[in-house]
Amino acid sequence: KKKIAVMTSGGDSPGMNAAVRAVVRTGLHYGCDVYAVYEGYEGLLRGGDLLKKMSWEDVRGWLSEGGTLIGTARCMGFRQREGRKQAAGNLITEGIDALVVCGGDGSLTGADLFRSEWPSLVQELVKDGKFTAEQVAPYRNLTIVGLVGSIDNDMSGTDSTIGAYSALERICEMVDYIDATAKSHSRAFVVEVMGRHCGWLALMAGIATGADYIFIPERAVPHGKWQDELKEVCQRHRAKGRRNNTIIVAEGALDDQLNPVTANDVKDALIDLGLDTKVTILGHVQRGGTAVAHDRWLATLQGVDAVRAVLENTPDTPSPLIGILENKIIRMPLMESVALTKSVADAIESKDFDKAISLRDTEFIE
Ligand code: ADP
Repeated sequence: KKKIAVMTSGGDSPGMNAAVRAVVRTGLHYGCDVYAVYEGYEGLLRGGDLLKKMSWEDVRGWLSEGGTLIGTARCMGFRQREGRKQAAGNLITEGIDALVVCGGDGSLTGADLFRSEWPSLVQELVKDGKFTAEQVAPYRNLTIVGLVGSIDNDMSGTDSTIGAYSALERICEMVDYIDATAKSHSRAFVVEVMGRHCGWLALMAGIATGADYIFIPERAVPHGKWQDELKEVCQRHRAKGRRNNTIIVAEGALDDQLNPVTANDVKDALIDLGLDTKVTILGHVQRGGTAVAHDRWLATLQGVDAVRAVLENTPDTPSPLIGILENKIIRMPLMESVALTKSVADAIESKDFDKAISLRDTEFIE
């Protein structure tokens, strides 16, 4: 009987619970035992009660719930080989040799590393006297399948990550609220949204709310000159009768000298223009709340496919990542997506903003 474990790791995102629910129920449907790993990699390291066998009822009502009900954590121990060896021991103790990880690129990189080290970790456990060669014989390989849970929509090779549309929805609601008061007082509002290396939330929120100007890391603004351009745009919109201004700033926004562009920098430029300007930093409300329909079905379809990928996996194949491309659920090599994602950050760091934009998926507007 196949034993599969599912876990959430890294930053929480709405829809993670729907993913766990889908993995648990699909696993049970195919006759597997399914375990939930509580508290991210911390749970793998500590084992015991944090590896919980799940039943159909255990995940009832999880479709819409925000955050992750099985917990998540940043775990330093899993970054060390010794920690991963301990994790391997805990999995073998429970008889588990397949792991579905829902997390960001850090979590998925860790998972793939764990898979690649697995045979040698198991050998060491035998050498240490923790298990006999017979005991570990059925556990030659670890199957890893990745699901991307991230509000930032920052993974290359997939159109949307689990949680991104929920965060976007929340941002748009908040901007709508802000717009109402802004119009009443003829004010300008600078809204800072999440997205450290990825401007997707800022860009899509800006389009969806009709913002005057959007700052994202991939399209850095000209150093020392963006203030004039911003003022010109806002003035033009005012001249057309607009009673408010909305500027969306991604938290990772930059100028082309790689200086951060903060919400307060933007505010200063607008005050200089004579606009009554306020800053709103949305912060963690963007993560919270229930998952929108998109994230529920995305997580469900991907969770189903994750279990199928586990059951079809052959030893030595690289870890697959379950993505969505042009409305089809797809599988791709996890490390290829991670490498592509890193190359966007590298392009930004080397000031090659055209490359950064071109490496982003097609919905990014030039
Ligand atoms: P995210 O998955 O959202 O990108 P992090 O980068 O914080 O978030 O990663 C979450 C956890 O994954 C870390 O706390 C750590 O336990 C594990 N992890 C991340 N990167 C690695 C790595 N290179 N090797 C091993 N484990 C890693």
